[in-house]
Parts: sequence; C-alpha cells; structure tokens
Amino acid sequence: MTRAAPVVLAAPSGTGKTTLAHRLVEGSNRFVFSVSATTRPARKRERDGVDYHFVDKSTFEAMVAAGALAEWASVHDCLYGTPRTELDSAALRGEHVVLDIDVQGARQIRESVPEAKLIFILPPSVEVMMERLKGRGTEAPVEVARRLRSALDELRAVPEFDYVVVNDDIERCVAEIEAIVTGQGGGKAGSVPIENIEVFRAGLARILDREFENANG
Ligand code: 5GP
Repeated sequence: MTRAAPVVLAAPSGTGKTTLAHRLVEGSNRFVFSVSATTRPARKRERDGVDYHFVDKSTFEAMVAAGALAEWASVHDCLYGTPRTELDSAALRGEHVVLDIDVQGARQIRESVPEAKLIFILPPSVEVMMERLKGRGTEAPVEVARRLRSALDELRAVPEFDYVVVNDDIERCVAEIEAIVTGQGGGKAGSVPIENIEVFRAGLARILDREFENANG
C-alpha cells in the first residue's frame, strides 16, 4: 500500500502558517493535523491535545529517549516534536498528515519520510508579516525580535523545499496545497528567484535594526 504522503508546512512566524494548517484539515477527510508535543506554555485559547500536547521538559525528554518522536527540535528555547503516532495513525487511515513544524524538523522528516511533500509558506510581503507578528499581541517585543532573527535564518532554507506557496489569500493557498498533494501543480521552490528571498530578508533585517535594536532576547 502506498501511504498518503505527509505534508510538511514550514514558514517564518507571522506567515499565517498555523491558521493555514488548521484551515486545510477543517472539514476535510483527506487531511489531518499532526498535534505536536511541546514544552512551551499554552497561549490563551490553545487547547491541550488539540493545538499541542503540552508537556513538561522531563516528559518531553522521556519521549525522545523512548524514540516516540519522528522529529524534534529546540525552537525559541522550547522543545517541539512530532509524535510518531500522529504519522502512523494518519497512514493507517490513508490520510495526509499536515505537519506545522520548523525548518530543522522539516529536514529530519525529509530524511525519514522521503515521500513527504515539503512546502515553504511565504508571507506576501514584509509589511504583512510584521502586521501579523505584532497584531497577534501574544509576544513581547523581545520575543518578536527573536522570531524575526529566526525568520532571517529560516528563509535561507527555501531552496531545500519542494514547493513555495505565498499566503496572500488563505482559500487560494489551501487550493494550491491541495493541488500540490494531488500532483496537479504548485510552485516549485526552485522557481522562486533567490534574489527575491534575499530582498525579503534584507527588508526584515532593516526592521530588526530600526525597531528592535534594544530588544535582545
Ligand atoms: P509556536 O510556538 O508559535 O506555536 O511555534 C513555534 C515554531 O515551532 C513554529 O515554526 C512551529 O511550526 C514550530 N513547531 C511546532 N511544532 C513543532 C514540531 O513538532 N516540531 C518542530 N520541529 N517544530 C515545531
């Protein structure tokens, strides 16, 4: 049996990736969300077992030791990982499991699940990304600055991905990802000129310098 390929979504913070991942699985019998384990405290409105499995550090370390995680990484000083059971149960049901994970995790999935579709989500512009990052209102400036620094780093990984999708409109984006998964299209990552990514990174670097020079996290 060929199993339904996992779909890995990676993106810098402020891209709307999590909303997109949830929208993709809503009311769909083909896509299911992979609920990660994390040591990060829950944000307002996040539910344990739905958005994440919120665990303490020793529980997370025990999962790593038991080989219970298909991939894991330290992101912004917290630990995040994909329980193997999330991949296995989706495979049993013939569903595409949607992983909302960071670039380090995406690389690990690339190695262990070669048929996975790796999709990098880009925000439509630096301005929109900043609006989303600040508008969420859940992070202090020092945290926003830290996420901007990671974004600068993560954007370098675009060429390692199979596809790039620009989140300019959520419904269009969902349709594009569905097309990628069914093999009917999608923007190949290689088709995005590296200069565009560099222009984007330069824009973020300027904002970091100008607005967050005192926010060292
Ligand atoms: P947040 O704390 O904003 O929910 O997530 C921070 C970052 O961690 C995001 O890029 C998110 O995709 C990533 N992340 C969430 N779950 C996992 C996971 O299971 N593994 C890895 N490697 N990254 C994850």
